[in-house]
Amino acid sequence: MPWPNWSRLASMSEIDADGADTGSSPPPTPAPRRAARPRAAELGPERRLSGIAVVAGVAIGPVFGATEPAAAVVRGSIEADQVTSETTRLDAAIAQSRKQLIKLRNRLAVLPEESQGEIAPLLDGYLKMIGPSRLIRGARKRISDKLVTAETAVADEADAIAVAILAMPVGDDPAGQRRRADEVREIGRRLLRNLTRVPFRSFAGLPVGAVLVCETLRPADAALLDPSRLAGVATDEGGADGHTAIMLRALGVPAVLGVPGLSQVVAAGDTVVLDGEAGTVVVNPSAATLATARRAVTAFARSRQKLARLRRLPAVTADGEAVELQANLELPAELPLIAQAGAAGIGLLRSEFLFINRDTLPDEATQFEVYRSVIEAMGGDPVTIRVLDWGGEKEIEALHSHGLMPAAIGPNPALGVRGLRLLLSAPELFETQLAAILRAAAAGPTRLLLPMVTTAAEVRSAREIYERVARRLRRRGERLPDQLPPLGIMIETPGAALAADALALEADFFAIGTNDLAMYTLAVDRGESAVAHLYDPVHPAVLRLVRFATEAALRLRMPVSVCGEIASNPRLVPLLLGLGLRSFSMNASAVPGVKQAVRAAKIDDCARFARRVMDESDPARIHALLDDTAQ
Ligand code: PEP
Ligand code: MG
Repeated sequence: MPWPNWSRLASMSEIDADGADTGSSPPPTPAPRRAARPRAAELGPERRLSGIAVVAGVAIGPVFGATEPAAAVVRGSIEADQVTSETTRLDAAIAQSRKQLIKLRNRLAVLPEESQGEIAPLLDGYLKMIGPSRLIRGARKRISDKLVTAETAVADEADAIAVAILAMPVGDDPAGQRRRADEVREIGRRLLRNLTRVPFRSFAGLPVGAVLVCETLRPADAALLDPSRLAGVATDEGGADGHTAIMLRALGVPAVLGVPGLSQVVAAGDTVVLDGEAGTVVVNPSAATLATARRAVTAFARSRQKLARLRRLPAVTADGEAVELQANLELPAELPLIAQAGAAGIGLLRSEFLFINRDTLPDEATQFEVYRSVIEAMGGDPVTIRVLDWGGEKEIEALHSHGLMPAAIGPNPALGVRGLRLLLSAPELFETQLAAILRAAAAGPTRLLLPMVTTAAEVRSAREIYERVARRLRRRGERLPDQLPPLGIMIETPGAALAADALALEADFFAIGTNDLAMYTLAVDRGESAVAHLYDPVHPAVLRLVRFATEAALRLRMPVSVCGEIASNPRLVPLLLGLGLRSFSMNASAVPGVKQAVRAAKIDDCARFARRVMDESDPARIHALLDDTAQ
């Protein structure tokens, strides 16, 4: 592709309005607007698009495209004594633009190689243009000689350069000439946005009740969404178990991801009906579709209420076997939901939220406060804190800026320095987090979980560091629990699953992460819509690994749980119980539904059913068996 993939670049754009990315003081957040009540299609027939069902629930609302608002240039002149202050404003906008471009450059690592190759030279070109370039020199000169505002100077200079480029004799690359002119204008626009403080991509203006539609949404962007303003989310890209999907589930926002071409089809303000269970988005719904969708919204709310009544009932099978149902926590905002859902503790606290959307790394005190408040909020129910699991699409700018990221991420970030590998290579980062968790553990039952483990040696190294940190804290006089919190590992790679018998000798517990386990077993990116049809956590290959790891743990009477997304699917409860699993951790909103399935199950039946499933080697047959039991 000869031309940069602008849409991808735009999807990586900053979210200045939330103050998250550029460090600029955000413009005042507008008072929440309420979206107009959607009306039936007046413009053309309805269109039904299909994607990946990610978060159940029906949303009806106008489309809010996360596009960039135009930066209006207020032209103006200045007095001679304002030249210095105007030049200072220009310098600040240049510094801001440079910071943004460096961040965008760092983020390229998460894009496919092809897109990186397209965009990197472009960003490098931009960085040059805001150095000692003709554009910057010219803008400064206009401020001092023509006595105009910085905005006017930048707009006029960028325009003059673009016109001059286009006026040059047409060589053998007229397209290149046009491109260079556009690039100058683009960098001019960036400077103008920073001068006028008009955000790049803002979710702050999201009208209450709107449906956010964009090409892609990063997990860090999703974490900034306010679920109380949002009816739903639909994107062109993304997969069912990627981290964006997990974040949206945590927020409880109905979502359909991976709808090819969606953002091209809809316009801001179009009414859409989004069904997060069917995985459909209807654009310009007819009166009949709207009426059905409104009924579905009411029915969904009713079924939620019904399930909520299970909150106080125990998670026990029909034949009296107790099952532990815990919640996964992605964001502290979920804590009230966890309490409402009746979860018996937190089975997976993904600590990444502490590290994303910030420029600096959280220190020990900051982390300690967060862990302690979560542990206290759980009122004696256990909390399993997973140490930082950087990798794949979970990008963390602060790690870049502190030089903790490897210089070259390599062509396959998912197979590179991620999870525990990164922590072992950055001991300071690891020790700070361990210290914070150890100190917080005095507040209640805590367990510590290591991500992306593949060898027993890694677990031994981690344990050595863990014990060393504990000794140091005790010397410092910190209050720690008498017994150090158990140190468990994620089983989320085929290697770990197949070596589970050896790993069980090193770890205190297993948490089976079927999201990554399915991804690595099937060689299918969990967040990639193009291969989403191949992503199947109940593929026999994945289930065999789950069984192998579970049996390795059970032989040693070691605790084992499932914390991947399959744990939230009530249809899979009989199978997982039949495999011997008795502990599940899931997004909080799934707990009631899974509890209902647990209370309906009988262990003997489950064991028989699991044997039938495990005898199958054809994924389609497994799905058919699961469908049959769900009837
Ligand atoms: C998993 O891989 O299944 C898991 C629970 O971890 P995460 O989704 O955070 O990668
Ligand atoms: Mg994982």
